[in-house]
Amino acid sequence: MSVGHVTMSTEHEVALRPSALAMVWPGVGKKHEPVAVPGIALAPGEVLVSVELATVCPRDAQYASGARLLRGPVVLGHEAVGRVVALAGPVRAAGGRRLSVGSRVVWSATASCGRCGRCRHGMSQRCVSLHRYGHERVARDWQLGGAFATHVQLRKGTTIVLVPDNVPAEVLAPIACAGAAAAAIVEAAEREAPLAKRTVHIAGTSARALTAAAMAADAGARVLLTETDSERRELARRFGAVAVVDSQQIGSDGLGTEGAHSIMPQGEQDAAAPRHLVRAVDFVLKTWRELPYDEFVGEVMGLEGVDDALRLAASEPRARVGLRNERIDIV
Ligand SMILES: [Zn+2]
Ligand SMILES: [Zn+2]
Repeated sequence: MSVGHVTMSTEHEVALRPSALAMVWPGVGKKHEPVAVPGIALAPGEVLVSVELATVCPRDAQYASGARLLRGPVVLGHEAVGRVVALAGPVRAAGGRRLSVGSRVVWSATASCGRCGRCRHGMSQRCVSLHRYGHERVARDWQLGGAFATHVQLRKGTTIVLVPDNVPAEVLAPIACAGAAAAAIVEAAEREAPLAKRTVHIAGTSARALTAAAMAADAGARVLLTETDSERRELARRFGAVAVVDSQQIGSDGLGTEGAHSIMPQGEQDAAAPRHLVRAVDFVLKTWRELPYDEFVGEVMGLEGVDDALRLAASEPRARVGLRNERIDIV
């Protein structure tokens, strides 16, 4: 990954040579357009990161196909790992360490104000002035608001977590959404009752489901995971699911799901809170050598493949397609 040349004036005007490149999604049925961003102005507390690898969340594919409503133009993408290339003033990572140019980081899918009533009551994911990466229309002051780009401008109020250099990008990129959502699921289950010795049911083998299975198993739960595909069942076993049944055979094999409490949320789910991202990163860093997180990511393409990546993700939502930051020419 080449970061290129970055210069910053005292007013936090950042000039990028070569220009940053954002893959702008105009709307349903239209191809992404690469848009050059030669410079941006960082507000105090903001950070510019160079994306190393972004992954396609099923939600991105739903937006692109029109299955879920979103108005373009938007730079999609809210799961990535990257490196800090510029900061406006001192900015701290979660846990208090100062970020510096070159820091390798993952960041939350949302940025919240930290001051409103909802933020102060631990519900920053519902902040009244919430910013969501990969969801907002391209604006003059936020052209680099999604991960399907060479760079992302991190707004103040983003939870930024330092990650070590030796962990593969495929392991780290999905944490911002899938990992944090898994931590939120497990936290909600723990609030009902401690997980040790409980039997819990998890449906499917999305990255979110498998990470939640691993976390619940680590907390001492017996995880019953249902999945129709035999290869995916094998993957689930490697994430610590102690009983993995074909959901079409529930009840006929003696395992059943009776008595197993489903911990997967029904329907819409709130975005995760900062503590969930921090917990997910901690857990993945503790377990990545044993658990095959890298297998979440299937095919990896360059940014110019974003339309293909979204189509592929729509047809196979369980495997995350990766988008690597490579320079492409604008035609
Ligand atoms: Zn997502
Ligand atoms: Zn707020």
